[in-house]
Amino acid sequence: VDDHVRPRRVVIVGGGFAGLFAARALRNRPVQVTLVDRAEHHLFQPMLYQCATGILSEGQIATPLRYILRHDDNVDCVLAEVTGFDVAARKVIATRPLGDRMELPYDDLIVAAGAVQSYFGHDEFATMAPGMKTLTDALTIRRRVFGAFEIAETATDPAERRRWLTFVVVGAGPTGVELAGQIRELATRTLRDEYHRADVADARVLLFEGAECPLASFGPKLSAKAARALDRLGVELFMRSIVTDIDAQGVEVRGPGGSVTRHEAGTVLWTAGVQAPPLAHTLARQTGAEQDRAGRIRVAPDCTIPGHPEISVVGDLMALDHLPGLAEVAMQSGRYAALRIRRDMEGRKVGPFRYRDFGSAAYLSRGRAVVSFGPVRLNGFPAWCLWIAIHIAFLTGFRNRFGALLSWLLTIGWAVRRERALTARQIAAACRRHPSATPEPSGAGGRRNTGRPS
Ligand SMILES: Cc1cc2nc3c(=O)[nH]c(=O)nc-3n(C[C@H](O)[C@H](O)[C@H](O)COP(=O)(O)OP(=O)(O)OC[C@H]3O[C@@H](n4cnc5c(N)ncnc54)[C@H](O)[C@@H]3O)c2cc1C
Repeated sequence: VDDHVRPRRVVIVGGGFAGLFAARALRNRPVQVTLVDRAEHHLFQPMLYQCATGILSEGQIATPLRYILRHDDNVDCVLAEVTGFDVAARKVIATRPLGDRMELPYDDLIVAAGAVQSYFGHDEFATMAPGMKTLTDALTIRRRVFGAFEIAETATDPAERRRWLTFVVVGAGPTGVELAGQIRELATRTLRDEYHRADVADARVLLFEGAECPLASFGPKLSAKAARALDRLGVELFMRSIVTDIDAQGVEVRGPGGSVTRHEAGTVLWTAGVQAPPLAHTLARQTGAEQDRAGRIRVAPDCTIPGHPEISVVGDLMALDHLPGLAEVAMQSGRYAALRIRRDMEGRKVGPFRYRDFGSAAYLSRGRAVVSFGPVRLNGFPAWCLWIAIHIAFLTGFRNRFGALLSWLLTIGWAVRRERALTARQIAAACRRHPSATPEPSGAGGRRNTGRPS
């Protein structure tokens, strides 16, 4: 096609919050958008822990990108894994599902590939302790958690049963706190009458965190409330405690005094930190972009790579003004990158990206949450109502919203968790931890980029 008549080509890498909002902001515009993702769905990461603990189904938190964008004729969805860039030739290099290479030419590139789980230099922990980033992670955790109760039920050795009824969660940020609380609620409400040999209500949940307090980013008052709520739930909190080793039988932890203690545990789950994916290094090498400590790409105030006005980096992958890895940052920066392209086509300029902070929220237990918004700090029931309203508003599609509300009602009112159809083989594959197993890379997304080990 003649370069003068063909529409401007925009390639967006990643259909998470940032990429999807960029694509939506370019719908029905005179541009040809290609949204490339290695997953066919947009994942609502804040609800991953609910999928992992049997409340929500995978379909309720993962909506096909094609379905979301079905009315946008100028947006093509491509299922492929991006492996590199040819910045000089303005091409994205990707691998199609069956392994062959494809090239996606662009005039403008928006890179929104999110972040991956960080094990703080201990990548060998990944097979022992799955992270919480992708749908695969949530389903693995679901199998491990429900599998642990099943294995405990038929164990004849009391020590083995105790071990399978001990769950370790590493990292007391929002995801760790939510996950730990849900495992205790699962044990004490949903499963307590279903098992007759193992006393599942006595299941221990140990939550380890390197910082002084849980939910540190919510400030001291809400953090103290969260600690009390976790205590009431029966979660055992270990602050200033660094997990130094994980094996098939449990964990070793260096406590505040420096002494190392061993804890036997059948299940270990990792929610402690995030870092940029390897694709960020590839992009940095090609463009000369700088990366921060977590590997994120340092961008100019307009979210572009310095010296490359045609490449924007947005969402969790971008390092700008110490903005946190939050869904709201991703949505706003994605939308901004699209707006910049639109303005540029009109020969106009946009000002620098300005983030509007709408606060953050974390679920503690039934009827309890914490919400922090500017100077406002809410906790307990009002915060919980707000939490529900926010998450329903951001779920994609009416069916998912309605379905999630119904599932929450059933879980809150009657402790029902129906999303746990498992077989012995699936449980064996998930629960047999050995270092030779190679997990799928723990995907993209992530907030709480503290860069600090827990
Ligand atoms: C468990 C959890 C709970 C969270 N809870 C909250 C919360 O309560 N509130 C909040 O504001 N934020 C929360 N966050 C953070 C929020 O989800 C992220 O900030 C947000 O998802 C970042 O959006 P993104 O588009 O940058 O990345 P993502 O949403 O991660 O999307 C990245 C996309 O890129 C794709 N991708 C990655 N690499 C490639 C590749 N090489 N080729 C092709 N595609 C690729 C991925 O498949 C993915 O679809 C949570 C995150 C997690 C993990």
